[in-house]
Amino acid sequence: MTVTQTLHRIPARPWRWVPWLVASQLLVVLVWWQLGWAWGLVALLASHALFVVPVFLPNSRFYAPVLSRVPGAAVWLTIDDGPSEETPAVLDLLDRYGAKATFFMVGERAAARPELVREVLRRGHGVANHSQSHPQARFWALGPGEMAREITACQQVLADIAGTPPRWYRSVVGMTNPFVAAALKRHQLTRVGWSARGFDGVGCEPQRVVQRIARNLGPGAIVLLHEGAAHGHNLAIIEGVLQQLRAKGLQARLPQGTA
Ligand SMILES: [Zn+2]
Repeated sequence: MTVTQTLHRIPARPWRWVPWLVASQLLVVLVWWQLGWAWGLVALLASHALFVVPVFLPNSRFYAPVLSRVPGAAVWLTIDDGPSEETPAVLDLLDRYGAKATFFMVGERAAARPELVREVLRRGHGVANHSQSHPQARFWALGPGEMAREITACQQVLADIAGTPPRWYRSVVGMTNPFVAAALKRHQLTRVGWSARGFDGVGCEPQRVVQRIARNLGPGAIVLLHEGAAHGHNLAIIEGVLQQLRAKGLQARLPQGTA
């Protein structure tokens, strides 16, 4: 088996959770019937938690396989939420440090700036699927139709611009609900998580974000970065991470044999 085959973890049975859900609810009914409502309620809540909690765990394999590390000595930089006004500056930074990265792009933003998508590719980086409209407040709750449209539309936009469809996908805010896997299988996409993140949300301090990422920087790490955030610190964070990589003697490369 080649490295490429082992890295691409396309969901084989996207609906495998359905029989488990049915079985768990039958068990709840059984408990309710045999042990009374109090235990029945406990069983009901526990069974729901079992199916809800994995949605919010970015590296959980419950609903879809996920790649959270890569083999080899290199680090995989992943930059979410572009393209943005910062993309050209991000590309210059990566060039200056001799680093390659994969850009997980939002379809609507890519459609608005196709020249930036082409520039990312021209400079030897990868482009990947990060949903069509990035509905971050409700992505976890999208139904099967809407979820399929989010992933499919982004795939089409990026395929039209790039000439080939992306192979990688990242869930919005890392949330993967029961309906993601079917769309991934249809488009032969592999879900990518991360092993190093800095929690660079609202009100972040760049130095502390870089420190948090640096703690988990090592061979095979997948690093979660962002561009274009309103707080304006993304470039400083990316440069800080590139400096850390250099200090640790680590190289940022795309996963072997893939883009
Ligand atoms: Zn995002």
